[in-house]
Amino acid sequence: MNKKFVHIDMDAFYVSVEIRDNPKLQGQPVAVGGASNRRGVLSTCNYIARQFGVHSAMPTALALKKCPDLIVLPGRMQAYKEISQQIRDIFVQHTDKIEPLSLDEAYLDVSNNPLHNGSATLIAQTIRQQIYQATGLTASAGIAPIKFLAKIASDLNKPNGQYTIKPEQVQDFIDELELKKIPGVGKVTWQKLQNYGLNTGLDVRNSNLEFLQQHFGKYGQVLWRRCHGIDEREVETERVRKSVGVERTFDKDFYSYEQLNQILTEKLLPELNRRLEPYLLSRQIEKIGIKLKFSDFQLTTKEQQCQTLDHTVLRYLLQEGLNRFDGKAQKKGVRLLGVQVGLSEQRTAVQLKLDLGE
Ligand SMILES: [Mg+2]
Repeated sequence: MNKKFVHIDMDAFYVSVEIRDNPKLQGQPVAVGGASNRRGVLSTCNYIARQFGVHSAMPTALALKKCPDLIVLPGRMQAYKEISQQIRDIFVQHTDKIEPLSLDEAYLDVSNNPLHNGSATLIAQTIRQQIYQATGLTASAGIAPIKFLAKIASDLNKPNGQYTIKPEQVQDFIDELELKKIPGVGKVTWQKLQNYGLNTGLDVRNSNLEFLQQHFGKYGQVLWRRCHGIDEREVETERVRKSVGVERTFDKDFYSYEQLNQILTEKLLPELNRRLEPYLLSRQIEKIGIKLKFSDFQLTTKEQQCQTLDHTVLRYLLQEGLNRFDGKAQKKGVRLLGVQVGLSEQRTAVQLKLDLGE
């Protein structure tokens, strides 16, 4: 039996909410993000702004250079959270296997949904209609028998569209797929793949596993499997998840605390915050930690009880982790830096009401 995954992704979520609530913004380039004078970056921008070459995660100052008329709003997290909850209430009508990736994005496993004769395409269509009716906002969807392909597919007919990859289309789709579209292939890996002449899924399928493992480590095997249409990962529901983390492997070793702290601040923490948001609707942070892998593959983690994603504590833990190998004959380089958060048990609806004093 084939699995049926649906990846739902709201279109330019934060900005769409702002335009919905302030129609004067309609037809103008709009973004939500940090102020340009404080080294802020954009979290979202609308499709008009994208025509100027503006995109999410771009420094606000640079975005304003590319598009001087860009309207940059600070954002209203509380409003986004409430809408996220509305969307979640729609998802649970269709499946209990939901894996949130951020406030506006989730994987659903609808394999066991008997509605529409089990057509995941029609289920996705229904979900998108329900979202529009409830919120006035549009969403896009990807439908596929393999998890990572559902995410790639949701991008193909964006905004306000959906795309289905049928089981019999999977291998052809992957063969033509540019490898940079595969989740986990970042800029560095993509460049390296191209250097070896690997551009598409077919290129990887025609290369060999040993070569990939030799040059890309553990990820080489992941890539090999993905390109053969193998992704046995299930939807990981938030109830069972005990921690959320983000990590990055480097193509060279880093030795200095300053460089690693910069990567932590500018790359890892924004991504972790995005991934944490949906969990913090019903859970709390219990501990935070830093993970380091050194050039000799030795691994160390440093954790501390903490109720927030406290940057000062993280910096301290990073320093502690690095100190473990200080004073040794030779200082070790760092190959991987990760940051993770331990979560409390999910609170029940009753507990939530008590907390809110209802
Ligand atoms: Mg989105």
